[in-house]
Amino acid sequence: MTAFSLDPAQTAWCEELRTLADERLRPLAEKGEPGHVNRPLLAALGELGLLDRLLGSGALDLCLLRESLARGCTEAETALALQGLGTYPVVQAGTPAHRERWLPEVRAGRAVAAFALSEPGAGSDAAALALDAVHAPDGWRLTGEKCWISNAPEADFYTVFARTTRGAGARGVTAFLVPADRPGLTGTPLDMLSPHPIGALRFDGVPVTPDDVLGEPDRGFRVAMNTLNLFRPSVGAFAIGMARAALDATVEHTATRTAFGGPLSDLQAVSHQVAEMATRTEAARLLVYAAAAAYDAGEPGVPRRAAMAKLYATETAQYVVDTAVQLHGARALRRGHLLEHLYREVRAPRIYEGASEVQRTIIAKELYANREPSA
Ligand SMILES: Cc1cc2nc3c(=O)[nH]c(=O)nc-3n(C[C@H](O)[C@H](O)[C@H](O)COP(=O)(O)OP(=O)(O)OC[C@H]3O[C@@H](n4cnc5c(N)ncnc54)[C@H](O)[C@@H]3O)c2cc1C
Repeated sequence: MTAFSLDPAQTAWCEELRTLADERLRPLAEKGEPGHVNRPLLAALGELGLLDRLLGSGALDLCLLRESLARGCTEAETALALQGLGTYPVVQAGTPAHRERWLPEVRAGRAVAAFALSEPGAGSDAAALALDAVHAPDGWRLTGEKCWISNAPEADFYTVFARTTRGAGARGVTAFLVPADRPGLTGTPLDMLSPHPIGALRFDGVPVTPDDVLGEPDRGFRVAMNTLNLFRPSVGAFAIGMARAALDATVEHTATRTAFGGPLSDLQAVSHQVAEMATRTEAARLLVYAAAAAYDAGEPGVPRRAAMAKLYATETAQYVVDTAVQLHGARALRRGHLLEHLYREVRAPRIYEGASEVQRTIIAKELYANREPSA
């Protein structure tokens, strides 16, 4: 692969995924209930081997999967990505017993995973998390809350980050694998703008033992960060999939909709906006692929590049979808229109897995850290 084009096998795979998204997955997504886990959709992702592929993927494959599915069916993309986010801590740091119990079920789309880091008092500042793990004779008891947890409260297991050492910041956090049927664990769905299963969790003395620890006690923040480092460029890929879907729809619409005696595309004020949408989408796509390839190659500067990719792609997708709505006129705002759907979907990625402002902080920190001191 050159810098930066996909090879023919990757391009063919992306086309195949797009067709699967359109033909196999979209009909299942349409039968789902917004805000709830769609189990038939997950089972189909399992049958098609996509969840298997997800768990074995490097960052670039993950990006291609997410972008191509998002272009045809955002619900399928999100269902797949959430399985990855919730399961990667197990892949990365789970014991053989954890893997044996959960990975085949996740791969088949039978077990629903969730990643539980955020809390009402700890979002961007995740190291401030306060879910309390109090020592008990057989392990710990978890008490407190998690908030904005995708797939909660319908997930079958949660990777939960809890405070085992008070006052130690990121160094006092432990990752636990908590099955949903543990006593004391309850949850409530949250009704959000994006059509996304999400909820809050309440832990009321939930028992966990050393067998439930992912990695080592007090080393769980690293498990969370390794997971987010892998997924960050792929949030950008999800955004690009949405931007490309909006762009495709806009090219088609502006080429066929007539006004003032000709197609809208004859108006330079329109066609130049479409050109701008395409240019920014392409730039974002290249930035995402380059960040993902750098991650896979273990190159230096990955946090900065991943942050640039996530920042630029999610902000670009917001711009592209908004412009697409403008160029479609009223029909784009009708409930059920592709762009009405994308307009709701495109907003959240600028906030989760590190808000845009947090990405800028990461980029700036690395720039100043690497500054050549002036003579
Ligand atoms: C759809 C959706 C799905 C989610 N899924 C999950 C999930 O599965 N698991 C999970 O654990 N969490 C999840 N989250 C939570 C998400 O990770 C948090 O919303 C995110 O980390 C931001 O935290 P916050 O919302 O508390 O905002 P805050 O931390 O309160 O920040 C609010 C705003 O302040 C500004 N800000 C914050 N910090 C800085 C800074 N350092 N510099 C400059 N400006 C700053 C930014 O504009 C930011 O958007 C999800 C959120 C959404 C919307």
